Amino acid sequence: MSHSFDYRHWSHKAADWGADYLESLDKRPVRPRVKPGAIASQIASAAPETGEAMDAIFEDFQSIIPDGMTHWQHPRFFAYFQSNAAPVAQVAEQLATAFASQCMLWQTSPAATELEVKMVDWLRQAVGLPDGFSGTFQDTASSATLCAILTMREKALGFTGNQQGLFGRKPLRVYASGRTHSSIDKAMWIAGLGQDNLVKIPTGDGPLFPMDAEKLRQAIKDDRANGFQPAGIVICVGGTSIGATDNVAEICAIAQEEGLYTHLDAAWAGSAMICPEFRHLWEGAELADSIVLNPHKWLGVPMECSLHLVREPELLLRTMAIRPSYLDTPSQKVGGGDGIVNFSEWSVQLGRRFRALKVWFLLRSHGLDDLRTRIRNHVAWSQELAGRLGTLAEFEITTEPVLSLFSFRHMVPDLSVDELNAHNINLVDAINNDGRIYLTQSTHEGNMVIRFVAGQFDMQKADIDIAFDAITQVASKLISKV
Ligand SMILES: *Cc1c(COP(=O)(O)O)cnc(C)c1O
Repeated sequence: MSHSFDYRHWSHKAADWGADYLESLDKRPVRPRVKPGAIASQIASAAPETGEAMDAIFEDFQSIIPDGMTHWQHPRFFAYFQSNAAPVAQVAEQLATAFASQCMLWQTSPAATELEVKMVDWLRQAVGLPDGFSGTFQDTASSATLCAILTMREKALGFTGNQQGLFGRKPLRVYASGRTHSSIDKAMWIAGLGQDNLVKIPTGDGPLFPMDAEKLRQAIKDDRANGFQPAGIVICVGGTSIGATDNVAEICAIAQEEGLYTHLDAAWAGSAMICPEFRHLWEGAELADSIVLNPHKWLGVPMECSLHLVREPELLLRTMAIRPSYLDTPSQKVGGGDGIVNFSEWSVQLGRRFRALKVWFLLRSHGLDDLRTRIRNHVAWSQELAGRLGTLAEFEITTEPVLSLFSFRHMVPDLSVDELNAHNINLVDAINNDGRIYLTQSTHEGNMVIRFVAGQFDMQKADIDIAFDAITQVASKLISKV
């Protein structure tokens, strides 16, 4: 490096920048006003041969990057599901990075491994699950779900699939409602089971749209009769589109009768289970074999941090653990003999970040009570907004709130279905261009609907009032142009 780098100076500067950024968020549009290619055109076409001064690099950062970002920590980010990074957890991330630690084996990062065991258990208790569960922090729910589908596969094959492959066997079947996340489909692709063997079971009525248990039973029965081998069921609590939630206890009972492995995807809603009054949504969760929830969505832990809990870690380990001689730690057995855990044996990744540190800082600094208050506020405020919009004749609440997620659409008399759908897409775009809030759309029962989800860590009640104003004002302006 041709320029000496002053780590202390620039870390302080970055901290100041981060603090100023968080304070200024309110004044920025949530979604940036940039055209595709606008950022790339400002970046050199190849890396420099000799190092540049940090002043120039930081200046470019400030002038190019922030205005080209969608601001996920903006208090009026009501799109997708939130991604929060509480400041205290950001500090932990910088410290974790300083170690550049590889947390694959106990011996490669003993403190990180032992802290991870503890933090997984803190969160398990916080969401009210019994102590039979242990687990790990995966990068994302997609990875946890892939590990669960692989476990279903291996369990169904008597743990011979990894060795022998899937050739010449009965097709394995996995069941899920038609309202589950696309990460389930993708896991089927990657696990070699195939999209066609993910059997999507129809759902019942709102507001929760649960998987139809009778149709599930029938599908399993038909599959057995037709030469397929049922392997497992993915259960959904708080689905991404409109919050669809299966009846966990009922589905787990069927799984038990049928000898099938269950994976519960509560990637978003799981964080809310730190509040006892919401736990009815996943009643029976303690019967599931595998559960995923994302502290990086709603608890304030920065990406990436997905809590993957399992009731029988041996099944996951028999599926995921591989031990070439260069990873051997001679005194230890696969799966944590000697009480030692090697978390790379619980996941697809070998190399792993030190994820537990940010969880530790966050939980200690905020305490569960503060985190509960934030989630309760999000739920109450979102429900209040649904109530306010619902009283207006021109808005239809298309799905009732599940926790802090509901959907709605703007009704315009005398429009065809297609015209109404197009109008609501235009409305989302106009709202997002307005900049005060950020929303995304989905389809529900063939109609285009607009999703609203509250969950930004620092949002206030006043942000809901601004959301109400932005939605109603932009909608009436759009109408006046028609
Ligand atoms: C967000 C989400 C996922 C995917 O989570 P990643 O961590 O981004 O992989 C899966 N399922 C549900 C229900 C989700 O809300």
